Amino acid sequence: MSVPTPISSVDTLPGRVTKALVDVLCERKVALHEPRFEGNEAKYLQQCLESTFVSSVGPFVDRFEAELAAYTGVRHAIAVVNGTAALHVALLLAGVQPGDEVLVPALTFVATANAVLYCSAVPHFVDSSFTTLGLDPLALREHLAARCELRDGHCVNHETGRVVSAVVPMHTFGHPVDIETLLEVAREFRITVVEDAAESLGSTWHGRHTGGFGLLGTLSFNGNKTITTGGGGAILTNDSTLARRAKHLTTTAKLPHRWAFEHDALGYNYRMPNINAALGVAQLEQLPAIVQSKRCLYRRYAQAFDGMVGARLFTEPPGSSSNYWLQALLLDETLADQRDAVLAATNDAGYMTRPCWNLMPTMAPMNGSPAAALPVAQSLAARIINLPSSAFLA
Ligand SMILES: *Cc1c(COP(=O)(O)O)cnc(C)c1O
Repeated sequence: MSVPTPISSVDTLPGRVTKALVDVLCERKVALHEPRFEGNEAKYLQQCLESTFVSSVGPFVDRFEAELAAYTGVRHAIAVVNGTAALHVALLLAGVQPGDEVLVPALTFVATANAVLYCSAVPHFVDSSFTTLGLDPLALREHLAARCELRDGHCVNHETGRVVSAVVPMHTFGHPVDIETLLEVAREFRITVVEDAAESLGSTWHGRHTGGFGLLGTLSFNGNKTITTGGGGAILTNDSTLARRAKHLTTTAKLPHRWAFEHDALGYNYRMPNINAALGVAQLEQLPAIVQSKRCLYRRYAQAFDGMVGARLFTEPPGSSSNYWLQALLLDETLADQRDAVLAATNDAGYMTRPCWNLMPTMAPMNGSPAAALPVAQSLAARIINLPSSAFLA
């Protein structure tokens, strides 16, 4: 019998990263992100069952919406079936018309771009920032200055002739984009801002919660997000008219009447069921503690990766407070070719690590979509590794 040779030693990057994970996590098998139900979840779900209000009517939906608005400081929250549906309706409410272009970061989850396609609009992909991992507003300004012009108060892409009606910044892994500069650029070019805040519940930029800066913002409560309702999402807005419209469109656009079925627009059955909202109310009670734990986990990882040759842990952008939804390790540019070896070594050791998303323009449904130069997004996509990030790991 020969002595097994270790797959990787601390002389190699995969070995060093694995060793750092052992130091922080100890446990043998750790998932990327898991929910925990340690509050009033069972109690509220039981109340739903006893009342028989498990579906599209019930008090937990109103309560969840009111508590989301209170937590985020955004005036209105409309709970829906998932974050993708929230984006779809938010874009419709932002006035995105069929054939318009909507600016979307190339480095995002596919839902951001899919929602644009659901509106029969065209995603137009733009580059990211090394500081925030999200949309780079200065690169965007340069790109728009070269590609677009104002005609009758609309921003028009002079290469395609299409109106560029909205921009959807996404707060990547919970880290806020430079929203103030982005709002300026959007104003200059008459483009409406809809924030994809699916990953950033609990993240603030100069003390204000993400999702409340644009005309509309959206959240997700999928099982892998900071808090979960099973599946779920929400539309955020400070505009009362848009909030009423959001509720109307996501509840089949039915006019209130004791018995008549009159629908005055093409509506959607996107309302969040009461039973999901019950879970959400219980999870929301624990959100401040969850965010604190995730920030604490960041500090523990930061210590373990401090001074490591070849990789560094991503830190929240200046002026922001991140929920650190997913912890991100950035390999040095010159070591990007070792990404898959690091993924293999850490997964073999029982730690679920993942690369980030493939860039949107490479995906079949986005074929032929316009795009800016994407040097930063390409660099980031090649060398980001997400680490186990559940709150309870802290
Ligand atoms: C999770 C997520 C969404 C929405 O996802 P759903 O699963 O539909 O709730 C949208 N955008 C981003 C960036 C996400 O991470």
